[in-house]
Amino acid sequence: MQRSDILQAWRGILAGRRPSLSIEVTRECPLRCPGCYAYEPEHLGGLVTLRELNDSKGDDLVTGVLRLVDQYQPLHLSLVGGDPLVRFREMEALMPQLVDRGIFVQLVTSAFRQIPTAWKDMPRVMVAVSIDGLREDHDVRRKPATYDRILKNIAGQRITVHCTITGQMMKKSGYLEEFVQFWNSQEEVQKIWMSMFTPQVGAQAPEILTPEERKRAVEEMLVLRTKYSKLEMPARVLQQFLKPPHNPDDCIFARTTHTVSADFKTQIGPCQFGGTPDCSQCGCMASMALAAVGDYRLGGLIPVKSIFQASFAVGNLFRRSEENDTPNRNNNTDAEATAA
Ligand code: SF4
Ligand code: SF4
Repeated sequence: MQRSDILQAWRGILAGRRPSLSIEVTRECPLRCPGCYAYEPEHLGGLVTLRELNDSKGDDLVTGVLRLVDQYQPLHLSLVGGDPLVRFREMEALMPQLVDRGIFVQLVTSAFRQIPTAWKDMPRVMVAVSIDGLREDHDVRRKPATYDRILKNIAGQRITVHCTITGQMMKKSGYLEEFVQFWNSQEEVQKIWMSMFTPQVGAQAPEILTPEERKRAVEEMLVLRTKYSKLEMPARVLQQFLKPPHNPDDCIFARTTHTVSADFKTQIGPCQFGGTPDCSQCGCMASMALAAVGDYRLGGLIPVKSIFQASFAVGNLFRRSEENDTPNRNNNTDAEATAA
């Protein structure tokens, strides 16, 4: 993250805006990955599930996304799902219009379908392909988006590999290196990002890392980042995995990201995981990256995090006073406002 990005985000926060917006653009996905948080019963708060939401298609989807973008004016937009490429025609129509707005766009997909060639040369567009483990494990967990299919569908593209490390992976010696080595050698891969599986509070699952496995994953990545140039995991970010935020209020990522589901109204909180995520076991790379920014001390003295916290308070006051000055918005929640 550049200093100019931080300053721009800070200005937005002071004005009561969150600099990052994440939209679940469709409720549909051809995969059934074990441990997928998007389809958990509590993801949207427990009253409705992602599969039950009314989502949009065609022009309604395109205009719905643009309306949210124009309303929230984010610096960074994540298009997630489901899998956004289920609606590839709409995504193809959207992308140039988002680029014209000057925001950074990240689309997260399993690459079960070919990535549109035009995106390769678009500025500020990043396609993140989720690849969870070596071929023998990934192909079982994420069929039909198998290794063979991904390699075919990313051919000639520019992508970022995003892997979520699980407890199963950490039980096999040398697993992370074999994974990083394979994807580091693929021409289409620009960078490799690694998260760790984040459970809900009280959950039991084989994907959950033990504290020892978590520590070992960090130690291994600290070495791998020096051997494989595409593994973009700065040491100061990796260290954050060993001291994740205490709770959502302590999480800069959660506080700076507005997450909306596929009906364009339902808000997801406290972060993209929804439900009651266990922050003490958070493995979200974005959260750790922003925590690393928060730990940075301006002038060697004042942590950026304390400036952000004060700015959130100022921004909330500013937003409330604006809402009070706007009669027809007085009783709206943010969710209702998006539907207007
Ligand atoms: S591809 Fe993503 S949204 Fe689809 S099931 Fe897997 S984790 Fe969930
Ligand atoms: S991103 Fe991680 S630390 Fe932040 S609120 Fe979610 S689970 Fe907690």
